[in-house]
Amino acid sequence: MENLSIDLPEFEPGTVWIVGAGPGDPGLLSILAWHGIQQADVIVYDALVGDGIIELAGENAEMEYAGKRGGKPSAKQHDITERLVGLAQENNRVLRLKGGDPFVFGRGAEECFGLVEAEIPFRIVPGITAGVGGLAYAGIPMTTRGTNTAVTFITGHTAGGTVPDDINWRALSDGSPALIFFMGTAHLSRIAEQLQEAGRPADEPVAVVAKATTPDQKVLVSTLANCTADLAASDLEPPALIVVGDIVNFREQLKWLPDE
Ligand code: SAH
Repeated sequence: MENLSIDLPEFEPGTVWIVGAGPGDPGLLSILAWHGIQQADVIVYDALVGDGIIELAGENAEMEYAGKRGGKPSAKQHDITERLVGLAQENNRVLRLKGGDPFVFGRGAEECFGLVEAEIPFRIVPGITAGVGGLAYAGIPMTTRGTNTAVTFITGHTAGGTVPDDINWRALSDGSPALIFFMGTAHLSRIAEQLQEAGRPADEPVAVVAKATTPDQKVLVSTLANCTADLAASDLEPPALIVVGDIVNFREQLKWLPDE
């Protein structure tokens, strides 16, 4: 990496970089994310950030965990934002490391609002969202010319822990041949039922992609009718994505990860 001939921005003390760590495989970090991780004084990281990525931090970087651990509730969003502000005001280079992309179902915006309010300069470093990287590692193309001209990312989980009640199932069903649910496995039965009620066929393919891009990646392929029972009978563990649509069928040909 030493002979990398591109100009990278200085990480100024007193600023915050909100960085996407990608879905797990450290090789999927951007060069800019890697550069920031090497320079940071403090790294405030989430549960979904892969261990291999944490290990890339510079020797003098302080590591602060802001996710769930041992069943304890995660740090409140408000507290995390205040912490970022406080650390920046102490003139640290503060790197906020989040799983996937910070702006995809990741509350990255909420953290930025707090920084704007406190007049702390910040930079957003996008990451590969699990919705993109996870499908690639499962050998499921997000679009093909024959199957879909649109794809939709949906959250299967509200802040209160239920399936969002403002999802327009009919519109999703009619409008988007490929559906990718984040945080949905706890509510898979409701999701599969709603989609079938809205007109999607019972035998439509479904994949559950768990721990994508990590050494523990596992993929379950099923149908809308059977996926809930199949998932319950499996040993898949979160985090996981649910992929609904004919794109799932391509996995049979395109599965490339050798030891999954
Ligand atoms: N900002 C993140 C998403 C955070 S929401 C991103 O862009 O990827 C958390 C959800 O992301 C999980 O419930 C799961 O649905 C998905 N997710 C994150 N990492 C994952 C991984 N390695 N494998 C499968 N799903 C993952």
